[in-house]
Amino acid sequence: MDVTSDTLALIGNTPLVRLKGPSEATGCDIFGKCEFANPGASVKDRAALFIVEDAEARGLLRPGGTIVEGTAGNTGIGLALVANAKGYRTIIVMPETQSREKMDTLRALGAELVLVPAAPYSSPCHFVHTSRRIAEETDNAIWANQFDNIANRRAHIVGTAEEIWHQMGGRIHGFTCAAGTGGTLAGVGLGLKAHDESVTIALSDPHGAALYDYYAHGELKSEGSSVAEGIGQGRITANLEGAPIDTQFRISDAEGWYWVQRLLSEEGLCLGLSSGINVAGAVALARAMGPDKRIVTILCDTGFRYLSTLHNPAWRAEKGL
Ligand code: PMP
Repeated sequence: MDVTSDTLALIGNTPLVRLKGPSEATGCDIFGKCEFANPGASVKDRAALFIVEDAEARGLLRPGGTIVEGTAGNTGIGLALVANAKGYRTIIVMPETQSREKMDTLRALGAELVLVPAAPYSSPCHFVHTSRRIAEETDNAIWANQFDNIANRRAHIVGTAEEIWHQMGGRIHGFTCAAGTGGTLAGVGLGLKAHDESVTIALSDPHGAALYDYYAHGELKSEGSSVAEGIGQGRITANLEGAPIDTQFRISDAEGWYWVQRLLSEEGLCLGLSSGINVAGAVALARAMGPDKRIVTILCDTGFRYLSTLHNPAWRAEKGL
């Protein structure tokens, strides 16, 4: 027999695919790490598993306990599936602006959903602060705290980065992705640099995020906006602290959408906008590094999660995309 022991063993060990269009456009080899192949269909299953198992190991999460988190959706989906597989309850706080599919998926998984209006981080109504309050007020509950809980980036140091290093046969020149919590960028960056200090780690920042200016000029500053879900950070989270960023690109939604369309029509890959922004970033990194380089990026989640938004022409027209 060739079987996995349980659902949780399906998290990670995702395939790496060479992306033809981006590779041909740059004369480099650009590869996408297929995080949509995780059981919750996103990169966040990894962080969810590490956060829950870290809380168990510390004795913070006891049988019958509750996991509470504020999330743009994918972390909630990851946490809910890990919680179901381990017998915990989940309460998810998310901004009401996130896609309908994510909310429906969370409800289908049995998570209790608390929707809050989109608010700035400084507001007590922000989904992160609301989730912390609910965790404090709930008996035998943990607050997953994905932004500042470094069990998140550890998932990428010991998981994603190791997998990429071995899948590439130890021959990789560059890596780039966008940051939500920064767990993926910092974790993969640290993990790859531990193997080879000369691998270039690049941030691909959407408009409206503050990290591009921080890494370019040392100042957290943002301008413009993005409709990409799950990315766009305005502060240095604990997960981003000490991230080995060598260079940075600012990527527009239009550039991201261009690559989402090409990967869909030319390669049959249905992705979300953060994946498109990552691929646009990989193309920018390839052009900056010159031909014949081997560059990896993250295909963060499935586009089936955005059929009512990104992949819906009426929605795109409304957003000017
Ligand atoms: N893309 C999507 C669709 C996401 O939901 C997230 C997680 N917020 C990311 C990218 C970024 O991942 P990370 O939190 O590791 O920075």
